Amino acid sequence: MVEVRLENVTKKFGRVVAVDNVSLIFPDGRFSALLAPSGAGKSTLLYLIAGIYKPTSGRIFFGDRDVTDLPPKERNVGLVFQNYALYPHMTVYDNIAFPLRLRKLPREKIDAKVHEVAKLLHIEELLDRYPGQLSGGQQQRVALARALVKEPEVLLLDEPLSNLDALLRLRIRAELKRLQRSLGITAIYVTHDQSEAMSMADMIVVLNRGRVQQVGSPDEVYNAP
Ligand code: ADP
Ligand code: ADP
Repeated sequence: MVEVRLENVTKKFGRVVAVDNVSLIFPDGRFSALLAPSGAGKSTLLYLIAGIYKPTSGRIFFGDRDVTDLPPKERNVGLVFQNYALYPHMTVYDNIAFPLRLRKLPREKIDAKVHEVAKLLHIEELLDRYPGQLSGGQQQRVALARALVKEPEVLLLDEPLSNLDALLRLRIRAELKRLQRSLGITAIYVTHDQSEAMSMADMIVVLNRGRVQQVGSPDEVYNAP
């Protein structure tokens, strides 16, 4: 839907340089993975793209649009976190509807969109439940539904599967990849799990101490010296 481009992006927290002069293109409609061990700057890079953090220097573009100074809600991104971050006091329906209510969409339109995305993620029968009544895998589907219901241009995922058990992780991996491909959405996926990146991504970016160490297809990254 849109290419995400970083030009010489740096983010410092005091003396810590979390992201160090990174220039990168995440191609339009592709699934990219940011792969690195903990502390390499993956989450910071994702939050810079989301607009949660502002770069210390450098620019960020969505297509031709310079979004560097735009707040998150003006960037049209969907965010999914490791811990789901659902609203515990709201039903699944209300969780998914929440971003649309913020946009003051008419009630019938909200209803249609919530059902559409719930169907896509196979959670239609869960709409009346509360997050506390759901399994981890179900909660993560709801979080994904809430991210996708706004029809974002860019989907940002921060280790979304790491709280799930191994079997479920494999299943949702495949589903997520299929979903991304069918929607044609630009996805950026943060992980420290090499097999996860290899199995899902069209492009892998390996980070090391805030810098880009390697960029390429899974084959290129795997076979690099
Ligand atoms: P994870 O392994 O899930 O990425 P982190 O420890 O990297 O967990 O980060 C968890 C949260 O704490 C993030 O929002 C991150 O930005 C923030 N954070 C990480 N390191 C620090 C720090 N040194 N000081 C303050 N906040 C931090
Ligand atoms: P990763 O996601 O790869 O685990 P992070 O982006 O969370 O890495 O962190 C990169 C570096 O920046 C780490 O040294 C971390 O402690 C630091 N950091 C991240 N967020 C913050 C924050 N909000 N305040 C201070 N330091 C932070």
